[in-house]
Amino acid sequence: MLPKEPPKVGQMGFLYIPPYRVQGISIAGEQTCVQVPELDVVFDIGLCPRIALASPYVAISHGHMDHIAGLPYYFSQRMFQKIGVGKCVCHAAIARAIENMMAGWVALEQQRTPHEVIGLEPDEQIEIKNNIFLRAIEVRHTVPAMGYAVIEKRSKLKPEFADLPQEKLRELKASGVEITRTMEIPLVAYTGDCELGPYLFRDEFANAKIVISECTFLEDEHRSRASIGKHLHIDDIGRLLPVWQAEAVILIHLSRRTNMGTSREHLLKLVGEEAASRVHFLMDYRTNRQRYERQLAEATCAAKSR
Ligand SMILES: [Zn+2]
Ligand SMILES: [Zn+2]
Repeated sequence: MLPKEPPKVGQMGFLYIPPYRVQGISIAGEQTCVQVPELDVVFDIGLCPRIALASPYVAISHGHMDHIAGLPYYFSQRMFQKIGVGKCVCHAAIARAIENMMAGWVALEQQRTPHEVIGLEPDEQIEIKNNIFLRAIEVRHTVPAMGYAVIEKRSKLKPEFADLPQEKLRELKASGVEITRTMEIPLVAYTGDCELGPYLFRDEFANAKIVISECTFLEDEHRSRASIGKHLHIDDIGRLLPVWQAEAVILIHLSRRTNMGTSREHLLKLVGEEAASRVHFLMDYRTNRQRYERQLAEATCAAKSR
């Protein structure tokens, strides 16, 4: 008789969209945790994979268990491994509930785990790295919910001063003239769980380099389930793709039963080959692995020919 097999450990989804890695796990109802290491942020933390600990910020989209249950563990492990107090950014409406959850752990553990909860109002933002901001964008779900955009702010010389010599510019600046303007470059936008709404058409989503979007339902007959649960259906993605200029749209939060091959076919039929070529499924290990191997081969080839 064959020996019984050891359990299969869950794999991480991974995509390299230079210079950013987008990695983590996201399965509807089970867990969502998507990390962009280069931007110091994890979006949601349904469970806490080890890699998440390296990010000093967790941006929580909403309070459903599959998006937040790993948070106390994240706070606790950050302290245990001495990497500093973890910070959680969330909708202001749920900040108190998160503090209450942490207070529950004090009663259980008889010790207080250092943590920071930063409740944001809609459109409020905080600086998470030098000139890099995390902005909260309110979305509609069955509970209070935020999407997020990570935005780089660059100051640029106003066009009317572009031709002036350095010396003249220094003079103007010294005399109090505002010679620069601030440009906002949305790097990554994250929908969280939500239904289709005007917020997804905002500049932060339209112009982001990478959009990470939930897409819980694919089948035609699941449209009503999507609208009851206030989730996105692949048809909604079809409407958003022409608006989202992103170099990569990464779909997350599909159900465990979803077959990746069928999903891709579905998408192709819906939006055509060109639009579909920008879309990735975070949990499609096989396709993403092949993509990574191609990236690796191309880079090796380029390095050799130099
Ligand atoms: Zn969810
Ligand atoms: Zn939810």
